[in-house]
Amino acid sequence: MNLHEYQAKMLLSEYAIPVPPGKAVHSEKEASRAADELGDESWVVKAQVHAGGRGKAGGVKLVRGKRELDAAVKQMLGVRLVTKQSGPKGKPVNCVLIQNVSAIAAELYLGMLVDRKSRRVSVMASRSGGMDIEEVAAAEPDKIFTFQVDPVLGLQQYQSRQLGFALKLDDKQRKQLCSILAALYRLFLEKDLSLIEINPLIITATGDLECLDAKIAVEDNALYRQEGLENWRDPTQEDEKENRAKMHDLNYVALDGNIACMVNGAGLAMATMDIIKLHGGEPANFLDVGGGATKERVAEAFKLISSDNNVKAILVNIFGGIVRCDLIAEGIIAGIREVGVTVPVVVRLQGTKVSEGKQLLDASGMKILSTDDLTDAATKVVAMAQGGNH
Ligand code: GDP
Ligand code: MN
Repeated sequence: MNLHEYQAKMLLSEYAIPVPPGKAVHSEKEASRAADELGDESWVVKAQVHAGGRGKAGGVKLVRGKRELDAAVKQMLGVRLVTKQSGPKGKPVNCVLIQNVSAIAAELYLGMLVDRKSRRVSVMASRSGGMDIEEVAAAEPDKIFTFQVDPVLGLQQYQSRQLGFALKLDDKQRKQLCSILAALYRLFLEKDLSLIEINPLIITATGDLECLDAKIAVEDNALYRQEGLENWRDPTQEDEKENRAKMHDLNYVALDGNIACMVNGAGLAMATMDIIKLHGGEPANFLDVGGGATKERVAEAFKLISSDNNVKAILVNIFGGIVRCDLIAEGIIAGIREVGVTVPVVVRLQGTKVSEGKQLLDASGMKILSTDDLTDAATKVVAMAQGGNH
């Protein structure tokens, strides 16, 4: 789960890591009041969306005076901001962060993440931070310094100091980096994070380190023990279909193709996607209704996949082990009835109560093509998605 910048900065503050003073607001009126409380005559207005690259997309504006502040807030609130990382549809801006302006002497990069390869928390930093860090990583990887934290020993002072030297920090800044890293690592562990990215970590005009931007991702599997953080979830920033799937305990991932798949079990779902591709088709999604699928869940799954406009055909591939094929058939029928599916549906059922399931499908009077064989099912669904013989 991703956090908004203002939420990430609240966590950083909680751990005494320096961030510029700021307030998150939802209207022009609140913005004006926040600016008064922050003081000064200039502010930075920052669109709060779960996507980076806002600076280059007009989502970060330096404003002078109340008139410019109003204009910037008005322009950002209520629109969908499209950035390099947001996807073509962009993310809705429902909240903006009003922040005091920091004077920047240099922009650095600092990241902390779970590195699956070394199975450790990895720290990354570069002197060349700011809006072009992706290009630096690609073209000049030697400008990025990395080290891993031993999970038993924890973050060692010497590691932070070495990083400080590599980043060419002075004495004072190296000390600041050591305490920032120690606090970040504590935050990382205590809140079950999978990523912290500070880009830029700045050197201010007075020569101090400060976190100007912050991105934090919380490990989803640990949310059950991070109640406070779970309340910070912002569903408006997430894929709507994936959220609906989560609510019904369905494992769903949207993909780019046009053949919707409904399968029980992740392994069978992978195999089904493979066989669709093998026959020249492209899956529109990964959907695992789970081993103990119920009629209601199957109906929900059907509604979910058929609400995708890209879907040209649906393949249901269910192996009835624990789940019974007749219940699955009832779910399919209920789903089709409720949403009025217009695209062709191919169903391959096998296992417990398969003949009862097939009878129900046949008796439904719906245009459902039922088959026993997976290869046959895949060939047919691919032909149908390509506009062949319905
Ligand atoms: P991102 O583009 O989504 O990563 O947004 P950032 O929060 O990183 O802001 C983008 C850029 O705006 C930064 O790299 C800075 O150059 C600039 N910026 C943001 N806040 C301030 C500020 O307080 N003072 C100044 N001078 N520049 C800022
Ligand atoms: Mn940034």
